[in-house]
Amino acid sequence: MTPLAKKLARRITKSGPIGLDAYMQTCLADPEYGYYTGSARPAGGPIGRDGDFTTAPEISQMFGELIGAWCADYWQTHCQNVPLHIIELGPGRGTLMADIERTVGRAIAGLDIHLVETSGELRKTQAKALHGCTPEWHDNLSTLPDGPAIFIANEFFDALPVRQFERGPSLWRERLVDYDNATNKFTFCLGPEAQQDALSDPRFAKFRSGDIAEVNAPSKAIASQIGQRIGRDGGAALFIDYGYRSKPGTIATGDTFQAITGHSYVDPLAEPGTADLTAHVDFSALAVAARHGAAALDVWGPIGQGDFLKRLGIESRAETLCRHAAPAEIATALNRLTSARQMGSLFKVLALCGANGKDSARENMTPAGFSEEDRFAWY
Ligand code: SAH
Repeated sequence: MTPLAKKLARRITKSGPIGLDAYMQTCLADPEYGYYTGSARPAGGPIGRDGDFTTAPEISQMFGELIGAWCADYWQTHCQNVPLHIIELGPGRGTLMADIERTVGRAIAGLDIHLVETSGELRKTQAKALHGCTPEWHDNLSTLPDGPAIFIANEFFDALPVRQFERGPSLWRERLVDYDNATNKFTFCLGPEAQQDALSDPRFAKFRSGDIAEVNAPSKAIASQIGQRIGRDGGAALFIDYGYRSKPGTIATGDTFQAITGHSYVDPLAEPGTADLTAHVDFSALAVAARHGAAALDVWGPIGQGDFLKRLGIESRAETLCRHAAPAEIATALNRLTSARQMGSLFKVLALCGANGKDSARENMTPAGFSEEDRFAWY
Protein backbone atom coordinates (compact mmCIF):
# COMPACT_ATOMS: atom_id res chain seq x y z
CA MET A 1 0.00 0.00 0.00
CA THR A 2 1.25 3.51 -0.79
CA PRO A 3 1.61 5.88 2.21
CA LEU A 4 -1.27 7.90 0.80
CA ALA A 5 -3.42 4.75 0.54
CA LYS A 6 -2.84 4.13 4.26
CA LYS A 7 -3.76 7.72 5.08
CA LEU A 8 -6.94 7.53 2.98
CA ALA A 9 -7.88 4.09 4.36
CA ARG A 10 -7.62 5.42 7.94
CA ARG A 11 -9.78 8.42 7.05
CA ILE A 12 -12.50 6.36 5.34
CA THR A 13 -12.51 3.67 8.06
CA LYS A 14 -12.98 6.39 10.68
CA SER A 15 -15.50 8.70 8.97
CA GLY A 16 -17.04 6.76 6.06
CA PRO A 17 -16.83 6.96 2.25
CA ILE A 18 -15.63 10.20 0.66
CA GLY A 19 -16.69 12.05 -2.50
CA LEU A 20 -14.70 11.54 -5.68
CA ASP A 21 -13.69 15.21 -5.42
CA ALA A 22 -12.17 14.64 -1.96
CA TYR A 23 -10.40 11.51 -3.24
CA MET A 24 -9.03 13.34 -6.29
CA GLN A 25 -8.01 16.39 -4.27
CA THR A 26 -6.13 14.24 -1.74
CA CYS A 27 -4.42 12.12 -4.39
CA LEU A 28 -3.25 15.16 -6.36
CA ALA A 29 -2.69 17.76 -3.65
CA ASP A 30 -2.03 16.09 -0.28
CA PRO A 31 0.81 18.18 1.21
CA GLU A 32 2.83 15.08 2.16
CA TYR A 33 2.07 12.51 -0.52
CA GLY A 34 0.02 14.22 -3.25
CA TYR A 35 0.87 13.46 -6.87
CA TYR A 36 1.70 17.11 -7.65
CA THR A 37 2.46 18.46 -4.19
CA GLY A 38 4.14 15.64 -2.24
CA SER A 39 7.83 15.59 -1.47
CA ALA A 40 8.23 12.02 -2.76
CA ARG A 41 8.03 13.07 -6.43
CA PRO A 42 9.91 10.95 -8.96
CA ALA A 43 13.02 12.67 -10.35
CA GLY A 44 12.09 15.02 -13.16
CA GLY A 45 8.44 15.26 -12.12
CA PRO A 46 5.27 13.86 -13.65
CA ILE A 47 5.24 15.72 -16.98
CA GLY A 48 7.24 14.98 -20.13
CA ARG A 49 8.74 12.05 -21.98
CA ASP A 50 10.32 10.59 -18.82
CA GLY A 51 7.29 11.34 -16.64
CA ASP A 52 3.75 9.97 -16.69
CA PHE A 53 2.16 12.10 -19.38
CA THR A 54 3.25 14.53 -22.09
CA THR A 55 1.49 17.81 -22.76
CA ALA A 56 1.40 19.94 -25.92
CA PRO A 57 4.16 22.39 -24.90
CA GLU A 58 6.40 19.44 -24.04
CA ILE A 59 5.87 17.97 -27.53
CA SER A 60 7.14 21.00 -29.43
CA GLN A 61 8.14 24.63 -29.01
CA MET A 62 5.70 25.40 -31.86
CA PHE A 63 2.79 25.18 -29.43
CA GLY A 64 4.07 27.87 -27.05
CA GLU A 65 5.28 30.06 -29.90
CA LEU A 66 1.81 30.13 -31.45
CA ILE A 67 0.09 30.76 -28.12
CA GLY A 68 2.59 33.59 -27.64
CA ALA A 69 1.76 34.97 -31.08
CA TRP A 70 -1.95 34.79 -30.14
CA CYS A 71 -1.25 36.84 -27.00
CA ALA A 72 0.77 39.44 -28.92
CA ASP A 73 -1.96 39.73 -31.56
CA TYR A 74 -4.65 40.10 -28.90
CA TRP A 75 -2.68 42.75 -27.06
CA GLN A 76 -1.96 44.69 -30.25
CA THR A 77 -5.57 44.64 -31.48
CA HIS A 78 -7.37 45.03 -28.14
CA CYS A 79 -5.22 46.54 -25.44
CA GLN A 80 -2.23 48.26 -26.95
CA ASN A 81 -0.38 50.79 -24.81
CA VAL A 82 -1.52 49.31 -21.53
CA PRO A 83 0.75 47.08 -19.46
CA LEU A 84 -0.34 43.47 -19.62
CA HIS A 85 -0.24 40.63 -17.11
CA ILE A 86 0.14 37.16 -18.56
CA ILE A 87 -1.23 34.69 -16.06
CA GLU A 88 -0.81 30.95 -16.44
CA LEU A 89 -2.81 28.48 -14.39
CA GLY A 90 -1.02 25.20 -13.64
CA PRO A 91 2.21 25.89 -15.60
CA GLY A 92 3.71 22.40 -15.14
CA ARG A 93 7.40 22.52 -16.04
CA GLY A 94 7.15 26.16 -17.20
CA THR A 95 7.85 25.21 -20.82
CA LEU A 96 4.77 26.91 -22.27
CA MET A 97 5.43 30.19 -20.48
CA ALA A 98 9.13 30.10 -21.44
CA ASP A 99 8.14 29.69 -25.12
CA ILE A 100 5.53 32.45 -24.83
CA GLU A 101 8.02 34.80 -23.21
CA ARG A 102 10.67 34.06 -25.83
CA THR A 103 8.12 34.86 -28.56
CA VAL A 104 6.45 37.97 -27.14
CA GLY A 105 8.77 39.31 -24.43
CA ARG A 106 9.91 42.12 -26.69
CA ALA A 107 6.65 42.60 -28.63
CA ILE A 108 4.51 43.37 -25.57
CA ALA A 109 5.68 46.39 -23.63
CA GLY A 110 5.27 46.17 -19.86
CA LEU A 111 4.59 42.42 -19.84
CA ASP A 112 4.71 40.73 -16.47
CA ILE A 113 4.26 37.07 -15.70
CA HIS A 114 2.14 35.47 -12.97
CA LEU A 115 1.95 31.76 -12.32
CA VAL A 116 -0.81 30.11 -10.29
CA GLU A 117 0.73 26.89 -9.00
CA THR A 118 0.16 24.76 -5.90
CA SER A 119 3.17 22.45 -6.24
CA GLY A 120 6.38 23.61 -4.56
CA GLU A 121 8.46 21.14 -6.60
CA LEU A 122 7.01 22.32 -9.91
CA ARG A 123 7.56 25.96 -8.88
CA LYS A 124 11.29 25.18 -8.71
CA THR A 125 11.22 23.65 -12.20
CA GLN A 126 9.27 26.67 -13.50
CA ALA A 127 11.82 29.09 -11.99
CA LYS A 128 14.60 27.28 -13.85
CA ALA A 129 12.67 27.31 -17.15
CA LEU A 130 12.01 31.03 -16.74
CA HIS A 131 15.48 32.11 -15.62
CA GLY A 132 16.03 35.68 -16.73
CA CYS A 133 12.36 36.57 -16.10
CA THR A 134 10.87 37.55 -12.77
CA PRO A 135 7.59 35.66 -12.52
CA GLU A 136 5.41 35.96 -9.44
CA TRP A 137 3.79 32.83 -8.02
CA HIS A 138 0.32 32.58 -6.51
CA ASP A 139 -1.48 29.80 -4.63
CA ASN A 140 -4.78 30.83 -6.18
CA LEU A 141 -6.41 33.67 -8.13
CA SER A 142 -7.17 35.86 -5.11
CA THR A 143 -3.71 37.48 -4.95
CA LEU A 144 -3.40 38.30 -8.67
CA PRO A 145 -2.96 42.01 -9.49
CA ASP A 146 -5.82 43.93 -11.15
CA GLY A 147 -5.63 45.24 -14.70
CA PRO A 148 -5.80 43.84 -18.24
CA ALA A 149 -4.57 40.28 -18.35
CA ILE A 150 -4.38 37.26 -20.61
CA PHE A 151 -5.03 33.98 -18.79
CA ILE A 152 -3.64 30.76 -20.23
CA ALA A 153 -4.65 27.33 -18.94
CA ASN A 154 -3.35 24.24 -20.73
CA GLU A 155 -4.39 20.90 -19.18
CA PHE A 156 -5.25 22.70 -15.95
CA PHE A 157 -9.02 22.27 -15.60
CA ASP A 158 -8.77 18.48 -16.14
CA ALA A 159 -6.80 18.26 -12.89
CA LEU A 160 -9.50 19.90 -10.76
CA PRO A 161 -11.64 17.58 -8.63
CA VAL A 162 -15.00 16.35 -9.94
CA ARG A 163 -18.00 14.87 -8.17
CA GLN A 164 -20.00 12.13 -9.87
CA PHE A 165 -23.68 11.36 -9.52
CA GLU A 166 -25.49 8.23 -10.64
CA ARG A 167 -29.10 8.30 -11.66
CA GLY A 168 -31.37 5.79 -9.95
CA PRO A 169 -34.95 5.09 -11.08
CA SER A 170 -35.98 8.58 -9.97
CA LEU A 171 -33.23 10.12 -7.86
CA TRP A 172 -29.54 10.90 -8.04
CA ARG A 173 -27.01 9.42 -5.64
CA GLU A 174 -23.41 10.49 -5.32
CA ARG A 175 -20.67 8.04 -6.31
CA LEU A 176 -18.29 7.79 -3.36
CA VAL A 177 -14.98 6.09 -2.67
CA ASP A 178 -15.05 3.45 0.06
CA TYR A 179 -12.34 1.23 1.55
CA ASP A 180 -12.73 -2.52 2.04
CA ASN A 181 -10.71 -3.68 5.06
CA ALA A 182 -11.04 -7.35 4.06
CA THR A 183 -9.38 -6.93 0.64
CA ASN A 184 -7.39 -3.74 1.38
CA LYS A 185 -8.90 -2.18 -1.73
CA PHE A 186 -10.66 1.07 -2.52
CA THR A 187 -14.03 0.63 -4.20
CA PHE A 188 -16.86 2.79 -5.51
CA CYS A 189 -20.16 2.90 -3.64
CA LEU A 190 -23.30 5.01 -3.81
CA GLY A 191 -24.15 7.57 -1.15
CA PRO A 192 -27.58 8.60 0.05
CA GLU A 193 -29.90 10.56 -2.22
CA ALA A 194 -28.07 13.60 -3.52
CA GLN A 195 -28.77 16.92 -2.00
CA GLN A 196 -30.56 19.35 -4.23
CA ASP A 197 -27.83 21.98 -4.40
CA ALA A 198 -25.37 19.95 -6.44
CA LEU A 199 -28.04 19.01 -8.96
CA SER A 200 -30.12 22.17 -9.05
CA ASP A 201 -28.91 22.83 -12.60
CA PRO A 202 -32.04 22.40 -14.79
CA ARG A 203 -29.88 20.62 -17.36
CA PHE A 204 -29.97 17.59 -15.05
CA ALA A 205 -33.62 17.04 -15.84
CA LYS A 206 -33.73 14.23 -18.44
CA PHE A 207 -31.75 11.18 -17.54
CA ARG A 208 -32.05 7.40 -17.55
CA SER A 209 -31.38 5.11 -14.67
CA GLY A 210 -27.66 4.26 -14.50
CA ASP A 211 -26.46 7.48 -16.19
CA ILE A 212 -23.46 9.15 -14.56
CA ALA A 213 -23.11 12.93 -14.52
CA GLU A 214 -20.00 14.85 -13.49
CA VAL A 215 -19.93 18.22 -11.76
CA ASN A 216 -16.75 20.23 -11.45
CA ALA A 217 -17.51 23.05 -9.03
CA PRO A 218 -13.90 24.33 -8.65
CA SER A 219 -13.56 24.68 -12.44
CA LYS A 220 -16.79 26.65 -12.64
CA ALA A 221 -15.72 28.91 -9.77
CA ILE A 222 -12.37 29.68 -11.44
CA ALA A 223 -13.97 30.28 -14.87
CA SER A 224 -16.46 32.60 -13.21
CA GLN A 225 -13.71 34.62 -11.47
CA ILE A 226 -11.79 34.94 -14.74
CA GLY A 227 -14.92 35.95 -16.68
CA GLN A 228 -15.78 38.66 -14.17
CA ARG A 229 -12.24 39.87 -14.02
CA ILE A 230 -11.63 40.24 -17.78
CA GLY A 231 -15.15 41.55 -18.29
CA ARG A 232 -14.25 44.34 -15.87
CA ASP A 233 -10.54 45.06 -16.56
CA GLY A 234 -10.16 43.87 -20.16
CA GLY A 235 -8.04 41.03 -21.47
CA ALA A 236 -8.72 37.48 -22.53
CA ALA A 237 -8.39 33.84 -21.60
CA LEU A 238 -7.45 30.73 -23.56
CA PHE A 239 -8.50 27.42 -22.05
CA ILE A 240 -6.99 24.38 -23.79
CA ASP A 241 -7.83 20.91 -22.57
CA TYR A 242 -9.28 17.58 -23.52
CA GLY A 243 -12.97 17.49 -23.15
CA TYR A 244 -16.35 18.00 -24.70
CA ARG A 245 -19.06 20.51 -25.23
CA SER A 246 -22.31 19.49 -23.57
CA LYS A 247 -25.30 19.96 -25.85
CA PRO A 248 -27.03 23.25 -25.15
CA GLY A 249 -29.94 22.74 -22.79
CA THR A 250 -28.68 19.39 -21.48
CA ILE A 251 -25.75 18.04 -19.54
CA ALA A 252 -23.48 15.30 -20.86
CA THR A 253 -23.35 11.97 -19.13
CA GLY A 254 -20.52 9.54 -18.83
CA ASP A 255 -17.73 8.62 -16.48
CA THR A 256 -14.56 10.39 -17.69
CA PHE A 257 -12.56 9.96 -14.49
CA GLN A 258 -9.18 8.41 -15.40
CA ALA A 259 -5.68 7.73 -14.17
CA ILE A 260 -2.43 7.73 -16.12
CA THR A 261 0.97 6.54 -15.03
CA GLY A 262 3.99 5.87 -17.24
CA HIS A 263 1.93 6.98 -20.29
CA SER A 264 -0.66 4.18 -19.71
CA TYR A 265 -4.16 4.12 -18.28
CA VAL A 266 -4.42 2.46 -14.86
CA ASP A 267 -7.16 1.84 -12.27
CA PRO A 268 -7.68 5.24 -10.57
CA LEU A 269 -8.38 3.60 -7.21
CA ALA A 270 -5.41 1.19 -7.27
CA GLU A 271 -2.34 3.15 -6.07
CA PRO A 272 -3.49 6.52 -4.70
CA GLY A 273 -0.91 9.28 -5.12
CA THR A 274 1.13 7.56 -7.84
CA ALA A 275 -0.95 8.39 -10.92
CA ASP A 276 -2.21 11.55 -12.59
CA LEU A 277 -5.98 11.69 -12.03
CA THR A 278 -8.13 13.70 -14.43
CA ALA A 279 -11.64 14.13 -15.77
CA HIS A 280 -12.62 15.49 -19.17
CA VAL A 281 -13.51 19.16 -19.24
CA ASP A 282 -17.06 20.33 -20.02
CA PHE A 283 -16.34 23.49 -22.03
CA SER A 284 -19.97 24.60 -22.02
CA ALA A 285 -19.95 24.60 -18.22
CA LEU A 286 -16.82 26.79 -18.27
CA ALA A 287 -18.34 29.21 -20.81
CA VAL A 288 -21.60 29.53 -18.89
CA ALA A 289 -19.78 30.05 -15.59
CA ALA A 290 -17.47 32.66 -17.14
CA ARG A 291 -20.38 34.63 -18.54
CA HIS A 292 -22.25 34.47 -15.26
CA GLY A 293 -22.10 37.95 -13.80
CA ALA A 294 -19.79 39.27 -16.53
CA ALA A 295 -21.90 41.21 -19.00
CA ALA A 296 -18.97 42.37 -21.13
CA LEU A 297 -17.62 39.07 -22.29
CA ASP A 298 -17.44 37.40 -25.70
CA VAL A 299 -16.82 33.68 -25.92
CA TRP A 300 -15.48 31.71 -28.90
CA GLY A 301 -15.19 27.95 -29.32
CA PRO A 302 -14.58 25.38 -28.23
CA ILE A 303 -12.83 24.43 -31.48
CA GLY A 304 -10.38 21.60 -32.05
CA GLN A 305 -6.76 22.26 -31.15
CA GLY A 306 -5.75 21.09 -34.66
CA ASP A 307 -7.87 23.73 -36.43
CA PHE A 308 -6.79 26.41 -33.97
CA LEU A 309 -3.07 25.75 -34.45
CA LYS A 310 -3.39 25.45 -38.23
CA ARG A 311 -5.21 28.77 -38.45
CA LEU A 312 -2.43 30.33 -36.39
CA GLY A 313 0.11 29.05 -38.95
CA ILE A 314 1.64 25.95 -37.36
CA GLU A 315 2.29 24.36 -40.77
CA SER A 316 4.44 27.21 -42.03
CA ARG A 317 6.23 27.42 -38.66
CA ALA A 318 7.00 23.68 -38.99
CA GLU A 319 8.39 24.24 -42.51
CA THR A 320 10.69 26.99 -41.25
CA LEU A 321 11.91 24.86 -38.34
CA CYS A 322 12.57 21.92 -40.69
CA ARG A 323 15.25 24.00 -42.42
CA HIS A 324 17.20 24.14 -39.16
CA ALA A 325 16.38 20.94 -37.30
CA ALA A 326 15.45 17.28 -37.78
CA PRO A 327 12.48 17.30 -40.21
CA ALA A 328 11.18 13.88 -39.15
CA GLU A 329 10.89 14.97 -35.51
CA ILE A 330 9.11 18.18 -36.46
CA ALA A 331 6.68 16.31 -38.73
CA THR A 332 5.89 13.89 -35.89
CA ALA A 333 5.28 16.77 -33.46
CA LEU A 334 3.06 18.57 -35.98
CA ASN A 335 1.04 15.41 -36.43
CA ARG A 336 0.67 14.80 -32.69
CA LEU A 337 -0.51 18.34 -32.03
CA THR A 338 -2.92 18.67 -34.95
CA SER A 339 -4.10 15.30 -36.26
CA ALA A 340 -7.70 14.36 -35.41
CA ARG A 341 -6.42 10.90 -34.41
CA GLN A 342 -4.04 12.42 -31.88
CA MET A 343 -4.58 15.73 -30.04
CA GLY A 344 -6.27 17.66 -32.87
CA SER A 345 -9.93 17.18 -31.98
CA LEU A 346 -10.17 15.71 -28.48
CA PHE A 347 -8.18 18.72 -27.29
CA LYS A 348 -10.19 21.90 -27.66
CA VAL A 349 -9.68 25.63 -27.30
CA LEU A 350 -12.11 28.09 -25.72
CA ALA A 351 -11.43 31.83 -25.81
CA LEU A 352 -12.96 34.41 -23.49
CA CYS A 353 -12.52 38.00 -24.58
CA GLY A 354 -13.33 40.84 -22.25
CA ALA A 355 -14.49 44.25 -23.28
CA ASN A 356 -12.32 47.10 -22.12
CA GLY A 357 -15.31 49.40 -22.29
CA LYS A 358 -13.64 51.99 -24.50
CA ASP A 359 -13.98 50.85 -28.06
CA SER A 360 -16.93 48.63 -28.97
CA ALA A 361 -15.49 47.84 -32.43
CA ARG A 362 -12.46 46.25 -30.79
CA GLU A 363 -14.52 44.38 -28.26
CA ASN A 364 -16.33 42.49 -30.98
CA MET A 365 -13.27 41.60 -33.00
CA THR A 366 -12.87 37.88 -33.58
CA PRO A 367 -9.68 36.65 -31.91
CA ALA A 368 -6.96 34.98 -34.02
CA GLY A 369 -7.54 31.28 -34.66
CA PHE A 370 -11.35 31.61 -34.57
CA SER A 371 -13.89 32.64 -37.18
CA GLU A 372 -17.21 34.39 -36.71
CA GLU A 373 -19.07 31.03 -36.87
CA ASP A 374 -17.07 29.83 -33.86
CA ARG A 375 -18.84 32.15 -31.46
CA PHE A 376 -20.16 30.17 -28.52
CA ALA A 377 -23.91 29.64 -28.93
CA TRP A 378 -25.70 30.43 -25.65
CA TYR A 379 -28.75 28.52 -24.69
N1 SAH B 1 0.12 23.37 -18.17
C1 SAH B 1 1.17 22.40 -18.03
C2 SAH B 1 0.93 21.36 -16.94
C3 SAH B 1 -0.35 20.64 -16.84
S1 SAH B 1 -0.39 19.53 -15.44
C4 SAH B 1 1.49 21.77 -19.35
O1 SAH B 1 0.75 21.98 -20.29
O2 SAH B 1 2.51 21.08 -19.45
C5 SAH B 1 -1.37 20.42 -14.26
C6 SAH B 1 -0.67 21.58 -13.58
O3 SAH B 1 -1.63 22.22 -12.72
C7 SAH B 1 0.51 21.25 -12.68
O4 SAH B 1 1.45 22.32 -12.76
C8 SAH B 1 -0.13 21.19 -11.30
O5 SAH B 1 0.77 21.34 -10.23
C9 SAH B 1 -1.10 22.33 -11.40
N2 SAH B 1 -2.26 22.32 -10.50
C10 SAH B 1 -3.10 21.29 -10.23
N3 SAH B 1 -4.10 21.67 -9.43
C11 SAH B 1 -3.91 23.00 -9.20
C12 SAH B 1 -4.62 23.98 -8.46
N4 SAH B 1 -5.73 23.69 -7.79
N5 SAH B 1 -4.15 25.26 -8.46
C13 SAH B 1 -3.03 25.57 -9.14
N6 SAH B 1 -2.30 24.67 -9.85
C14 SAH B 1 -2.74 23.41 -9.88
